[in-house]
Amino acid sequence: MGDSKASRKITVGILTSGGDCPGMNAAYRAVARVSMAKGYSVVAFRWGYKGLVESDALSVSYLDVADILQRGGTVLGSARCEEFTTEEGICSAMDSLKSWEIDYLVVIGGDGSLKGALRLARRGAKIIGIPKTIDNDVPELDNAIGFDSAVNTIVDSLTKLRDTASSHHRAFIIETMGRKSGWLALASGVAGGADVILIPEVPVDYPVLAQEVERRLRAWGAYVLIVVAEGAAKGDDVRTVLESLLKKPVDMRVTVLGHVQRGGSPSAFDRILASRLGYEAVNLIERGEYGVYIGLANNAIRSFPLERLEGEEREIDMELYEISKLLK
Ligand code: ADP
Repeated sequence: MGDSKASRKITVGILTSGGDCPGMNAAYRAVARVSMAKGYSVVAFRWGYKGLVESDALSVSYLDVADILQRGGTVLGSARCEEFTTEEGICSAMDSLKSWEIDYLVVIGGDGSLKGALRLARRGAKIIGIPKTIDNDVPELDNAIGFDSAVNTIVDSLTKLRDTASSHHRAFIIETMGRKSGWLALASGVAGGADVILIPEVPVDYPVLAQEVERRLRAWGAYVLIVVAEGAAKGDDVRTVLESLLKKPVDMRVTVLGHVQRGGSPSAFDRILASRLGYEAVNLIERGEYGVYIGLANNAIRSFPLERLEGEEREIDMELYEISKLLK
């Protein structure tokens, strides 16, 4: 597996792919800066796999990654790329790696992007994956880049919604992202002190939910904050079902947090995580290791074979869910 020390400089390719989230730039910067510190060349592809398929890339200089640590989104751009999933597309991607003389490709992306990276790896590309996702559903990992920032954004929104909910004696239904996973709703619900947290992993018991809302609103000045993961139900649907079950009308409001959750400056935690992962990616390159994704697992930086992404999905922390029920 090891690379013999060639006279030619090692070239590290980088791309960011899939849905954007805070911390992708911090990871890009870390991979680029540590690579440069080791004397490697760095090439970045624009627009994720689209740039790879179309050979749209730039030679990265020190200044290209200046002033991006604190920026959300991805300065390299990201896109969903259907073409990459075709035979023609993957061949173009491999050609492009060859023409830019990429020795190692670091893919900063979510579950889908890393599965795409596995296809490249199976064709012989030397891949290192750095997972990012606000859904936090990457197998084996504690936290993917972006999750902590998104949780902080939601908690901030919950604090604001609590003010208005309490002033008007209302029930607020706050819909979060998270796709099929309840991680984002659960973590932000616990951190934001939600009264009820609905996640896809636990079927919603609407009659019990209606009773809970009625019980809570009985007290003077009471209010209810219900956090619902998009994978459990749409906020509007929760409201409609509750309206049909509640004995007396309740003033209910639905807030869909939407793409606000993806944006903003990364948290300090995500910046540090991204920096550590960028460093580790280059360490692997130095040792001639590849075909893996890296991340925080049991509080240490570890690597896992890309094939692991085809295995069992990451399960939610049900203990945290049980704790949340005792805290409400
Ligand atoms: P994320 O990486 O955030 O999960 P997507 O699932 O949209 O985002 O994936 C981003 C891109 O990665 C897709 O547009 C596609 O080009 C590629 N991709 C996703 N899933 C696969 C797959 N199973 N096989 C090959 N490529 C994939």
